[in-house]
Amino acid sequence: MAIDRFGRNIHYLRISLTDHCNLRCVYCMPEDQTFRPNPELMQDDEIFLLTRLFASLGFDKIRLTGGEPTVRAHIVDIVRGIAATEGIHSVSMTTNGVLLKKLAQPLAEAGLDRVNISVDTLNPEKFRRLTRWGKLEDVWNGVLAAEQAGLTPLKLNAVVVKGYNEEDVVDLARLTLEHAWQFRFIEMMPFAGVTDVQTSQVITAQQIHDRIESALGRLEESNDGKLDGEARVFHLPGAKGDIGFISSVTNPFCESCTRARLTADGRLRLCLLRENEVDLLTPLRAGASLEELRKIILDGVWHKPWGHGLAEGVIPLNRVMNEIGG
Ligand code: SAM
Repeated sequence: MAIDRFGRNIHYLRISLTDHCNLRCVYCMPEDQTFRPNPELMQDDEIFLLTRLFASLGFDKIRLTGGEPTVRAHIVDIVRGIAATEGIHSVSMTTNGVLLKKLAQPLAEAGLDRVNISVDTLNPEKFRRLTRWGKLEDVWNGVLAAEQAGLTPLKLNAVVVKGYNEEDVVDLARLTLEHAWQFRFIEMMPFAGVTDVQTSQVITAQQIHDRIESALGRLEESNDGKLDGEARVFHLPGAKGDIGFISSVTNPFCESCTRARLTADGRLRLCLLRENEVDLLTPLRAGASLEELRKIILDGVWHKPWGHGLAEGVIPLNRVMNEIGG
């Protein structure tokens, strides 16, 4: 079991499969972002080996992310290999959905359980502006394909950015009246590279909550008021789905954090919003034994920071979001 010094049992691993992405969301990375050459990324066999190691330490839940995980070569085989790993009970993916129309069914057959899809607006023109070139229609087809393939319960994510999509939260929330989806609104977080946008254009979860309530009526608590993952969940009266708020900046959920992250270049990142990382790929490639790697992981987890330091002005500058995976 991997326990940190605060007594949290860390058993949820989010693996960034690649820093590459087929979109350039304004809140995620700069337009001229360059990506790592393939040899610097974890190779398929390295991902499988590290997954087995983490599973042997009690990690049972994996989320694949990126960059965009669906642009990774052999993605279906990677999912199949991870899903077949002894001790792994849940495999999910965070994706922009662009390629899901063709991949949802093969991914489900390979063992993927669920997907979270990013949909920041229902307005095609605003979608293009936010993603710099994305076509909303592709994403929408991906959402429908995911549902059809049984990658459910479906969760949709929107990062809300002032001047881009803050008015769209009402239309997005309205989707939950007719669909059994969880629509989650995420507070924008600051990282290197795009920090200007991220600090000046934040809309808080409370502001989003208030905007939805004033347009659509009172939000009632779901899940007995308990967190669902990192989201505080509510529903509109009579709705089939839920509305979640992820307030990582203004009201974080560090006490219940059970997660660690593996960056696309094989570093164990202990907190999304702290720079602390432990290199696993270099010792793996240098021939470290499984026992040595296990020890590095357990030491890293033990020193996992309690939470972020945004209130004290500490912003993680060593990476942009697409390398960590969100
Ligand atoms: N490409 C995939 C996608 O679009 O979902 C997976 C990677 S993306 C980095 C993972 C999640 O991080 C997405 O939900 C995205 O909206 C979110 N995200 C990216 N930059 C963010 C930021 N600055 N603050 C908060 N969330 C962010």
